[in-house]
Formats: sequence, C-alpha cells, structure tokens
Amino acid sequence: MIEIDPQLCTACGACEVACSLYREEEVFTTMRSSIILHREEVRNYFGVMLKREGEVILGRPEGVEIMKEGESSDTGGGGKPILLREPCDDCTNAMCVRFCPTGCLKEV
Ligand code: SF4
Ligand code: SF4
Repeated sequence: MIEIDPQLCTACGACEVACSLYREEEVFTTMRSSIILHREEVRNYFGVMLKREGEVILGRPEGVEIMKEGESSDTGGGGKPILLREPCDDCTNAMCVRFCPTGCLKEV
C-alpha cells in the first residue's frame, strides 16, 4: 500500500508518469495513472491524489484525507476524473515510489 507525505511533494509529476508507464500498453497516456497531481487555484498550492479500491487519498499541505468513493468532488487532472481511473494495484516495485525524488511516497 502506498502512503503519502504531502509535505515532501514538489509537484514534479514523476509519480504520474511512472504509473502511466506501468499501465502502458500500446499508447502512452497519463490518463490511466492511479496517482495524479492535485492543484487548486492558489499560487504554489499542490498535492497528489491516489485512487485506491473504493477510496481516494488526497495528500495536500493541510495533511492527508481519505475519501470514500462518492465523497470526492475532484474533477481530476489531465481531463479524466480520478474516480474513473483504475485503482492502484500496488504494482511490483511500486513504480511511483521508485520515481518520486523526494521520498514523498512510501510503500508500507
Ligand atoms: S504503486 Fe504502482 S499501481 Fe499504485 S499508484 Fe504507484 S505506480 Fe501506480
Ligand atoms: S513524484 Fe513525489 S514529489 Fe513528484 S509529484 Fe509525485 S509525490 Fe510529489
């Protein structure tokens, strides 16, 4: 299972690319990633969202929030809502953790 320490996130986007690479079949697209950047209309404000089976984990400067499916109002990054994405399946080697340069993501 992946845990998020949002204070360490720099919004580099590497985790989103990593999960997309893991899910790549013939066409590369970040729309299949289970983890995406979370932005709001506030300068220098960001975090990450992770889709798990039945829930969404939101890591942002205020802390980590777990929302059950249906509670999230997020419209999603990259044009596809997080709720429509495949849930994280704790892929072998946890690609997103390997790519994250700051230790923000941890496999527990
Ligand atoms: S552990 Fe694997 S499947 Fe889960 S979000 Fe990270 S890269 Fe995607
Ligand atoms: S790779 Fe790590 S630092 Fe970069 S956006 Fe993802 S969680 Fe944040």
